[in-house]
Amino acid sequence: MLSHRGKPQSIEITVQPHGGIRGRCSQCQRPAPGYDRLRERRWLFVPLWGIPTYYLYAPRRVECASHGVVVEHIPWSDGKRRMTCAMMGFLARWGRRLSWRETALVFQTSWEAVYRSVEWFVQWGLAQRQLEGVESLGVDEIHWGRGLQADNFLTVIYQIDAHCRRLLWVGRRRSKATLRRGLKALGPEVVQGLRFVCSDLWKPYLQVLAAEAEQALHVLDRFHIVMHLNQAVDQVRRAESTRLRAQGKQAAQGLKHMRWPLLRRGSRVRGRARQKLNALLASKLATARAWELKEAFQHFWHYKSVVWAGAFLDYWCYRAMRSRLEPMRQVARMLRTHEELLLNWFRAKGEISNGAVEGLNNKIRVVTRRAYGFRTFKAMEIALYHTLGRLPEPESTHRFC
Ligand SMILES: [Zn+2]
Repeated sequence: MLSHRGKPQSIEITVQPHGGIRGRCSQCQRPAPGYDRLRERRWLFVPLWGIPTYYLYAPRRVECASHGVVVEHIPWSDGKRRMTCAMMGFLARWGRRLSWRETALVFQTSWEAVYRSVEWFVQWGLAQRQLEGVESLGVDEIHWGRGLQADNFLTVIYQIDAHCRRLLWVGRRRSKATLRRGLKALGPEVVQGLRFVCSDLWKPYLQVLAAEAEQALHVLDRFHIVMHLNQAVDQVRRAESTRLRAQGKQAAQGLKHMRWPLLRRGSRVRGRARQKLNALLASKLATARAWELKEAFQHFWHYKSVVWAGAFLDYWCYRAMRSRLEPMRQVARMLRTHEELLLNWFRAKGEISNGAVEGLNNKIRVVTRRAYGFRTFKAMEIALYHTLGRLPEPESTHRFC
């Protein structure tokens, strides 16, 4: 089709059925005698030379022995969709490299069309996905959007086996019900076959995992523990900074711009930040003591024996409890309460990858960032499976990207 200026507006490819080959039933795909023909339909195909391209075809109806009069099986189409599978796969693959908005822009289609294509792609993948051999699960909560309401959290379930790390499930909220729903979706075979589960200290998760996967060794994620310690150091710093400034003390200067140097691992602080940190540590400030406690805890992860790790934990908690720093004492209490789970890290040593959950979380954050513009949970859910689910992909005869 040409526009009034003579430029091609679209390419139309008219498809005719092969006279000698019978149509196939769309239900069972067995050849069946013809019945009649429907009106011609248009399917959007992959753009050729940047020109929108359509298939035109009048589908036949066939009379199947088992399914009666049905529309024939059309290899490039899925149901009533107006796009060919090739185009949906094309948009979906690009939708993983570019944002959906960019994909729509580049290929002259709508955001909605890209969304529907990815949805189709993901649904196919989820239906074909194999869940055999899942031994280690990581469960975590992710904050999404603005605000701290229940709906601003997602529960994610990852497979964190060394040979396969992927997102298995994502659901709204971070309640017991959410996690139960997720485990149910994976099915009893998966849950009963688990050897390790890894999570934060979030109580609803601990309870559900203890109840539903009791055979699995429950390990607390190292990066979560580090996070709790960092938060405690930061609380001490903020409180102290406010107090010193209120008293007009010079020492408040030492705490300025120290948030990040304090939260980093001590061995990674260099240059001027290091000098400031050293000066701070030489002071008698509470922040310095909190930082030293945090750094001392690093040692915990280097033990080989559960017994020695346990002894170290006792010693550390004893010091923290006597530190007169309330946030540090809170962490100590929390670690004591979950001592067994913490020590499971040493029982699982070498078997469970430390940092797998953290790595996947970071990837999720890239997708959930507002710039991608997912207004609905549904769209984001699909995008997450699409990028992190390692789903099988529908085959297509032509690969355009
Ligand atoms: Zn049939």
